[in-house]
Amino acid sequence: MAVQTVAGNTTSSAPDVDLGPAAALSCRECGERFALGPLFACASCFGPLEVAYDLPTGSPEELRKRIEAGPDNIWRYAPLLPVPADVAEKPNINPGFTKLVKADNLARELGVTGGLYVKDDSGNPTHSFKDRVVAIAVEAARAFGFTTLSCSSTGNLAGAVGAAAARAGLRSCVFIPHDLEQGKVVMAAVYGGELVAIEGSYDDVNRFCSELIGDPLGEGWGFVNVNLRPYYGEGSKTLAYEICEQLGWRLPDQIVIPIASGSQLTKIDKGFQELIKLGLVEDKPYKIFGAQAEGCSPVSAAFKAGHDVVRPQKPNTIAKSLAIGNPADGPYVLDIARRTGGAVEDVTDEQVVDAIKLLARTEGIFGETAGGVTLGVTKKLVEAGVIDPALTTVVLNTGDGLKTLDAVSGTSQATATIKPSLDAFRATGLVAN
Ligand SMILES: *Cc1c(COP(=O)(O)O)cnc(C)c1O
Repeated sequence: MAVQTVAGNTTSSAPDVDLGPAAALSCRECGERFALGPLFACASCFGPLEVAYDLPTGSPEELRKRIEAGPDNIWRYAPLLPVPADVAEKPNINPGFTKLVKADNLARELGVTGGLYVKDDSGNPTHSFKDRVVAIAVEAARAFGFTTLSCSSTGNLAGAVGAAAARAGLRSCVFIPHDLEQGKVVMAAVYGGELVAIEGSYDDVNRFCSELIGDPLGEGWGFVNVNLRPYYGEGSKTLAYEICEQLGWRLPDQIVIPIASGSQLTKIDKGFQELIKLGLVEDKPYKIFGAQAEGCSPVSAAFKAGHDVVRPQKPNTIAKSLAIGNPADGPYVLDIARRTGGAVEDVTDEQVVDAIKLLARTEGIFGETAGGVTLGVTKKLVEAGVIDPALTTVVLNTGDGLKTLDAVSGTSQATATIKPSLDAFRATGLVAN
């Protein structure tokens, strides 16, 4: 295959880079190919780059068996990821293979009869889906010789990078907006790396990081969601793989995914497409739905207006992990929602809180605000008849409610506070029968 290197970018085209089946980077817009390296934009048209593979060629049966015999984490899918074959033996946080919960109580409450599942990514090492993307980025950082791991983060990513760097023996320095939830700040700082809070929104933080990459100050730094973004993004494919495997090697009919930058949604679609191509699942239609909070709903607004471009917004919502006003993958999300017959919808902060409590009350799962956004949108779309209740539906819970306690702390308190006496308890009226 013709692999082109970028003029002047000598460190990025090292021929001995071993990232398993990853063959090259290719431009999503013009298709031009580049050697594997810490690149993120096409040198010809500035389009985003993504990983292109030499995927396994054996029988689907063989590949399925090989995957099923693999470790209980994302490395069981190593043959489909940009990681070296011996990845499972390296120090990494080993996320994934989180629970797919059959949510029958929730289904009953929503009137869904075709099977409702919650993919609960709060079970990852730092309690959000971001561990998946970071685990892959760590392998790319190692392959390219970076010694410092960095990122711009809405909160969860900073924690995931801190933990993964600690485990991999890399330095870390991460950047967050100054107004994040306490749980996210502590989770980002506790792993011992540097944590820098920036006076501004996430979009300001992101802009700052892009400047830092171009400056000698940022030399030797691997920014997982900037110059390592093509590799980082691939981590989200593992959600698609796991969901299908856990459904018995079957595509769901409908899936609801939260949107921040839109990377996760686009890569879940890529994961489904790969499984179809490899013959690991039957080729059948599926619908992808995107979920945003009303206070940061640039993609949902564009979807509803029928636009192809996403107009940036200034975020104002309790769903801070999704508060990206200028989402990099917004236009691709619009394409996917329209191509698959899905939709992009948003809910108010009040509906987010209601949905967090609905999930907790029906299934014993305490999701973060992003989970509330996703379930809130699911409920809204079922009620509107957009999501078909007779079909198999998967809803993502991408983070842990313990990190966003403030969202529900006002309405989730002790039912009563009493003296330690039976009389006092009887007086509360809580006594059953
Ligand atoms: C980052 C994040 C997302 C979505 O991220 P994308 O940028 O759209 O890939 C969803 N949920 C949580 C909890 C997150 O932290």
